[in-house]
Amino acid sequence: MTWKWCAGTRAFVGLGSNLDEPARQIEAAIGRLQRIPGTRVGARSSLYRSAPFGPIAQPDYVNAVVMLRTRRTPRELLEQMQTIERELGRTAGERWGPRRIDLDLLVFGDETVEEDGLKVPHPGIAERNFVLLPLSELAPDLSIPGLGRLAGIPVNHTEPRIERIA
Ligand code: AMP
Repeated sequence: MTWKWCAGTRAFVGLGSNLDEPARQIEAAIGRLQRIPGTRVGARSSLYRSAPFGPIAQPDYVNAVVMLRTRRTPRELLEQMQTIERELGRTAGERWGPRRIDLDLLVFGDETVEEDGLKVPHPGIAERNFVLLPLSELAPDLSIPGLGRLAGIPVNHTEPRIERIA
């Protein structure tokens, strides 16, 4: 491993799955993130089980967050993430419906991106316990552009229901 391989921007990716052995889907996606050229997964959170929100009855989700370093641009990273979603068999379903794998680019260094099809930091961060809890495991001192310190964002530990499982 050369020093260059470790250079790049620190980014955080959120993973979620509630179909077809969700924990296995998360592991498979992390393995593929690790293989994105110019990218190295540096740390991963615990796995969490969380109740789905939204109007559709569906199984609980398994969620995690990984921290990586990448020399890719945010757009390139998103494209690689979408390739992984397709490879793992995600199909375009209902917006709030069950899914085999969902990858969200949560934070990309201190960058803010407001483009068609790419918003960074991810707009859902502050409302999602299944993002806030694993993210604070990995980077409790994180400061998120537009949101401020992660530690200052309130977490509701009971609603929607969430528990650490592994
Ligand atoms: P979802 O169903 O939550 O996976 O949403 C996928 C859509 O959100 C895709 O069309 C992406 O282009 C768009 N999107 C916008 N910002 C992001 C982001 N930060 N991470 C992942 N998807 C994003």
